[in-house]
Amino acid sequence: MARSSDEAPDYGRGVVILDNWPGYDLNLFTYPQHYYGDLDSVLIPHGIIVDRIERLAKDIMKDIGNCDIMVLCVLKGGYKFCADLVEHLKNISRNSDRFVSMKVDFIRLKSYKNDQSMGEMQIIGGEDLSTLAGKNVLIVEDVVGTGRTMTALLGNIRNYKPNMIKVASLLVKRTSRCDGFRPDYVGFEIPNVFVVGYALDYNEYFRDLNHICVINEHGKEKYRV
Ligand code: 5GP
Ligand code: MG
Repeated sequence: MARSSDEAPDYGRGVVILDNWPGYDLNLFTYPQHYYGDLDSVLIPHGIIVDRIERLAKDIMKDIGNCDIMVLCVLKGGYKFCADLVEHLKNISRNSDRFVSMKVDFIRLKSYKNDQSMGEMQIIGGEDLSTLAGKNVLIVEDVVGTGRTMTALLGNIRNYKPNMIKVASLLVKRTSRCDGFRPDYVGFEIPNVFVVGYALDYNEYFRDLNHICVINEHGKEKYRV
């Protein structure tokens, strides 16, 4: 998390977690016993996640808090981020003069099997997206890896002619495979490792883990499908 003094900080990258960051020792935190032996380290403790989201909410309200917002949560991985973000947005709105009307909708995509990107994106659920016409849409996503999923989703959503689309992603991976897509709001920029916890899964496991952790080879093998 260090930076040389002549570089201006790029807050658009969020909290930057460098490749040589070893993470926190798991034994310093609590986590479900059924995951003992399956994780490498705690990359981001739950408390820091929530603190960062509070600031993202403030930034979002500053930018688009003057209009009604349609929050589009990308399930399932985005549900914790979305719930905590909406909670903070509501609190800011309640305590300010401008009351922002917010609606929340949910869509589901699937692009990963085990820890590999599958190339094409599957939309498995979701409401009638034509209701997004003319709306100010805030897409809430858990993690941008290659950027393919979000690029495909944005292409799809633009067809429904929303007034504005912003993207908030809790995590962005540093990866050379990235197609250049960058979310408007980023919680953390992380190394190109597969992470779980805080609703992020590995084949549906680890959603019940509070911290964002790095899974180890044993965990990958144990829950491989
Ligand atoms: P992309 O298309 O950007 O490569 O991948 C985006 C999607 O893949 C995310 O929405 C997320 O669901 C999934 N994904 C990417 N990296 C990770 C990761 O490290 N952990 C988990 N659990 N999901 C990931
Ligand atoms: Mg996702």
